[in-house]
Amino acid sequence: MQQKPKNPSKHVLNRRQFIEISGKGIASLSVGAAGLGSLSLSACESPKSNKVFGACHHDCPDTCSWEITTEDNQIKSFKASESNPYTAGKLCNKMDNFHNEVVFSPHRLLKPLKRVGVKGSGDFAEISWDQALQEISEKLKIILDEKGGEAILPFSYGGNEGIIQGRAGRKLFAHMGASRLDRTICGDAAVAGIEAVNGQTTGVMPEDIIHSRFIVLWGTNTLYTNQHLWPFILKAKEQGAKIVVIDPFKSDTAMEADWYIQPFPGTDTALALGLIHVILAENLQDVDYISKYTSGINELTVHVQLYNPENVAKITGLDKETIIDLAKSYANAKPSLIRLLIGMEHQSNGASAYRAIAMLPALTGAWKELGGGLMHMAYELFGEALNYEPHELPQNLKEKTTRLINMVKLGKVLTDPTMSPSIDALFVYNANPAVTIPNQNLVLEGLKRTDLLTVVLDHFVTDTARYADYVFPATTPFENWDLFSTWAIPYLNINEPAIPPLGEAKANTEFFRLLAKHMGYEESYLFEDDQDLVKTTLDSNHPYMKGITYKSLRKTGWAKFNLPDPWMPHVEGNFATPTKKCLFYNPNVDPALPDYIPLPHSEEDIINYPYRLLSIKSTKHFLNSSHANIDSLIQKEGKPYLDISDEDAIALSIVDGDAVKVYNQRGEVLLNAKIKKRVKKGVVCMPQGYWTSLMDGDSSANALTDDLLTDMGGGAALQEARVAIMKV
Ligand code: SF4
Repeated sequence: MQQKPKNPSKHVLNRRQFIEISGKGIASLSVGAAGLGSLSLSACESPKSNKVFGACHHDCPDTCSWEITTEDNQIKSFKASESNPYTAGKLCNKMDNFHNEVVFSPHRLLKPLKRVGVKGSGDFAEISWDQALQEISEKLKIILDEKGGEAILPFSYGGNEGIIQGRAGRKLFAHMGASRLDRTICGDAAVAGIEAVNGQTTGVMPEDIIHSRFIVLWGTNTLYTNQHLWPFILKAKEQGAKIVVIDPFKSDTAMEADWYIQPFPGTDTALALGLIHVILAENLQDVDYISKYTSGINELTVHVQLYNPENVAKITGLDKETIIDLAKSYANAKPSLIRLLIGMEHQSNGASAYRAIAMLPALTGAWKELGGGLMHMAYELFGEALNYEPHELPQNLKEKTTRLINMVKLGKVLTDPTMSPSIDALFVYNANPAVTIPNQNLVLEGLKRTDLLTVVLDHFVTDTARYADYVFPATTPFENWDLFSTWAIPYLNINEPAIPPLGEAKANTEFFRLLAKHMGYEESYLFEDDQDLVKTTLDSNHPYMKGITYKSLRKTGWAKFNLPDPWMPHVEGNFATPTKKCLFYNPNVDPALPDYIPLPHSEEDIINYPYRLLSIKSTKHFLNSSHANIDSLIQKEGKPYLDISDEDAIALSIVDGDAVKVYNQRGEVLLNAKIKKRVKKGVVCMPQGYWTSLMDGDSSANALTDDLLTDMGGGAALQEARVAIMKV
């Protein structure tokens, strides 16, 4: 007999809640310079020989499982789990030397620091934990008295996606009445678009891609950013699948595709609506599926009339034959799958693109087959399966709603003289906004404010930490308890500390417990124990969790949810919308149908800044800004460069390797040009992630991007930047 879920009402989380709760959301589907082992850990109290399990904390869809063996207080081995079929015994090139490059790095921050130079100089002196926390708590009490809790802003994101360490501090900040951070920079626009159609984002499970016979990797560089999916794609290919990549940047994944399609950046909405036009015009839609499980086909049919292949060709820069061929091939292939991550959401109409694309599998009935449909995220499964009650705010705090500040706007928020109250205390953890937030120079201007108390918790003195008043050493997953949900696969991981914290490092959670104590708070919800939180989160009778317990996870490290087999969530509709239907036309969203609405640029802007800048995650060795300070990885990655088309290079008399200044009204970045035939005329591309302090000119990609928001979801429309280029 199936056990009744402990929380039968289901814990329905949205994407934003997932970010807050696990470091990243939940909806519902009913169905020392020292090398390895050479660092003596004399203070360690761990057993003589021990094997513990953990998982990668990064903002990555793969969430690899790992095993660490220790003996006599030394780490003997660190390796990927071979038993986890998704991790498949292999960490990526960013992480396979994590123990040496981060955990035992000679540059690792192991003591608290207090600023002694000007903000940004990176001049610090050591300070004791107690003294630093005493000084911070005294300043916070003054801020709370004079301006109230909303003058305090916590800023955290995907630097650690653990359920425990990723969400640390949430209850303390709510207790203080701090401003809340809208953590929407990545993924929320995509989710908002897909939810407007399907009601949730969970679709095809990654391993089922082997059943697909026509795979469209739309705006995703799988080889670099989702590399554990690639072997499954290759298996599908071996079995006859055709691999199509749609991306304005000719990525290494695009090079491996059977068919590469290169639209202009930001035109994906038009392309998807054009495909719908052709499918309907050619009568390739699944009439039965549409009539039973969708609503709004008549409105959609009228709406896409404008998106005929001729018009879409003009918008996207593709041949109209390509658009027709792609639509027919996709609709005729069985099963056909579209893989989306977040690549194309960073446009002013980014959410609309996901919305239009999400309609395609219902239009063609692709959901009816195993391996057919849409593959995006899977975090909603965790909202159903795990017990999130211990992570809920106590009722008295839930009732105290404070202002919500979008993280994309950090620069404006810190520098806006009309903010009332102004942000006077900023706590940064699991994040490096000086590098990762758009409008970088405005962010730095805000961080330079002498009246701003900035506290950073990290492994290294990051670009953001250089502006901090106090920097605290944070533990790595080697040194703390955690539990990892994922946002893309149905695998759960426990993370047990393998060694005690190095130096004076402390877990994020411990920092906030100590701060609460220094503030004089006594409420028990501010002092919860990490290991207890792991146990209570796993205390669930949900069917997905059958056989998965705290005890079992400590023996295996990872577990795959017990999902219905086969997993075909929309074979009979069952979308997470009020009507259970896929909503081609959604009257509750404005507009009710997605449209291609490009961002209007002034004539002056187009003349002064003639190139469209793509600033993307094209690095192989960094993850966002993590690892972009590790010498060995910087060397492997090489200097950042500007991809420019042949035609534009000739027009600017630029040859391969030339030093160039890329600039606009917000800033400038110094790079070398590379003419690698990866972008179209009028488009240039540079990587995200490089630390400003390690760049020539002290600026990286976000010096050029604007803090515009996407059409839905509050995401960052990073890719709308226009730039000029000058040979230097
Ligand atoms: S960054 Fe991604 S691919 Fe690399 S080890 Fe972590 S989870 Fe695996």
